[in-house]
Amino acid sequence: MTRLFDSFQRGINYLRVSVTDRCNLRCIYCMSPEGVPWMPHSEILSYEEISAVVRIAAELGINKVRLTGGEPLIRAELPELIRMLSEVKGIDDISLTTNGTLLKKYAMELKQAGLKRVNISLDTFKSDRFRYITRCGELKDALDGIDAAMNADLHPVKINMVVMRGINDDEVLDFARMTCKQGWHVRFIERMPFTEIAEVVPSDELRQRIMAIGSLLKAESYQLSAISGNGPARYYRLPGASGTIGFISPITEPFCSACNRLRLTSNGRLCPCLLSDEGVDLKQPLRSEVSSEEIKRLISKAVALKPERHHLCEDVPISIKRRMSQAGG
Ligand code: SAM
Ligand code: SF4
Repeated sequence: MTRLFDSFQRGINYLRVSVTDRCNLRCIYCMSPEGVPWMPHSEILSYEEISAVVRIAAELGINKVRLTGGEPLIRAELPELIRMLSEVKGIDDISLTTNGTLLKKYAMELKQAGLKRVNISLDTFKSDRFRYITRCGELKDALDGIDAAMNADLHPVKINMVVMRGINDDEVLDFARMTCKQGWHVRFIERMPFTEIAEVVPSDELRQRIMAIGSLLKAESYQLSAISGNGPARYYRLPGASGTIGFISPITEPFCSACNRLRLTSNGRLCPCLLSDEGVDLKQPLRSEVSSEEIKRLISKAVALKPERHHLCEDVPISIKRRMSQAGG
């Protein structure tokens, strides 16, 4: 049961943990070509420190944890962290957001460690375009990663596509068809202006375009329970599809009123909103061995700082200091 509520009566039960600010890709919508300046290792929370935060947050009502980054799978021994978190009383859902390129190697081990499900970012089916969007990645590695996740039963595997006008929006129907052909759960994400590349494609425009290949029906309740989402996506299905089509629309259909999350950055800052510089440092208190009660007080303080909404609707460049890769998008 949720016991954490913010100033706007939203229940907070979900913690996104960025385990690293580093990444093996440089996606054009996320990072500059040279990447972001990496933090020294000593600044990054250890697995013991992350587990301590999760254990204390669970006592306050957090029951879902998602590991993200940067690219979480480039941090050494990630399955060990998952094993530690799966032993925390009160945590009933551990998930991962990844670019998928290292999943072939780790999917089975992650599953055995207690990972329930994965979201995999994939923005194109074309190899040269994949190299352009990620600036250095190989499409085959991401596709192999998706197969590996499915084979390891990390269900539901959700595929996240950031749609950019003139760059990959001509592939939206191909992605939508995968919900029929392969039962994929595809989510189309409106690009947030962290970099100046490409124009946003509003979700409503995508819905109109997808209707050219079939009616967009509301997802069935059995599909909704299978994708276990109480997140920001709105879900639909094409007739006869076993997979679903979700729309995540931070710009044109903001979901702030239902936001249930906190974010822990890799250097130990607990942030109430992706799009705000507000936050509370937990690293120094943890390293000074303050009491659990003091950490609980700091978590409650971060919750109290949660803004009512973000101001992305204007689609102006985001001026916050943290990038998506640093705040755990
Ligand atoms: N590296 C992992 C990945 O790419 O899935 C996890 C971290 S990444 C920051 C988390 C999610 O943020 C990905 O689904 C990515 O597509 C999304 N993302 C990054 N920059 C974005 C932007 N400017 N607008 C919308 N989504 C973005
Ligand atoms: Fe790396 Fe993910 Fe950002 Fe791409 S979106 S650069 S994979 S952190």
